[in-house]
Amino acid sequence: MTLPATDTVVTYPDGATASTGTVLHVEPLAEGRSAVLLDRTACHPVDTAWPDQPADHGTLTTDQGAHPIVDALTGGIHDGVLHLGADLPVRTGTEGWTFVVAHVVEDPPPAVGAAVRVDVDPTRRAALSAGHTACHLAALALDAALAEAWSKPAPTDALGHPAFDALAIESSRIHPHGSTDTYRIGRSLRRKGFTPTALDDLAAVAERVDAQLAQWVAAGGAVRVDRADDAFSARRTWVCELPAGRTDIPCGGTHLRDVAELSGVTVTLAVHEVDGGLELTMETVATAA
Ligand SMILES: [Zn+2]
Repeated sequence: MTLPATDTVVTYPDGATASTGTVLHVEPLAEGRSAVLLDRTACHPVDTAWPDQPADHGTLTTDQGAHPIVDALTGGIHDGVLHLGADLPVRTGTEGWTFVVAHVVEDPPPAVGAAVRVDVDPTRRAALSAGHTACHLAALALDAALAEAWSKPAPTDALGHPAFDALAIESSRIHPHGSTDTYRIGRSLRRKGFTPTALDDLAAVAERVDAQLAQWVAAGGAVRVDRADDAFSARRTWVCELPAGRTDIPCGGTHLRDVAELSGVTVTLAVHEVDGGLELTMETVATAA
């Protein structure tokens, strides 16, 4: 069976939750499962290198029947070999590779050449999109709340504040209606000018973050994902029109269409001592309007 020579076309960045396509390849997996590659899909897979937003839930339907999508992984093809999920050794977008969305189904899988409809669970998608939009807003609000914590000029975010989120982020996990972000405050961040004592009064920091978020939610603002083309590995950017300006954050996930779709976003901050510094976690909770 030949593997695709071009990326999967993806429609989820524009908010699609259904698509039609053709089965291009079926890769047998362990435990009676198969990975199904289509020419195009509305299904958002989890990224291997930066697994922030989990995979969509949904169904592949052919005229032979329905196949629940039990997982959706990022695949990379190089030298005629398909590398899936944890076995993918490169970041999505690496030159010389073809990147595909792998829909994992229980056997028997649909046949190569079959016409397939993809239906994504819209309720879970909407909850993840709310969580992802809130995650980015909270990161920008955290940058703003810690703007005075820097002793020298640092790279800035789209709103002009020192980019604490981009410089300190260790992991980001999107959940339905929320996210958990973990930041590392170690020697390298201190060298860049960050003063860890800014986190001594964590309640005050969280209050400033929440106040900023409340203001943004009240104002609303259009949200979209910009991209050069519809290939899976094309660079995508989260663009949000906030009263303070237009933001742009590289992002492979899905989002709301307007901040006004949220009625509230709040955060909880916690600091733990770790080897060589501190770890800050930010739990973000979004309420739908
Ligand atoms: Zn994102």
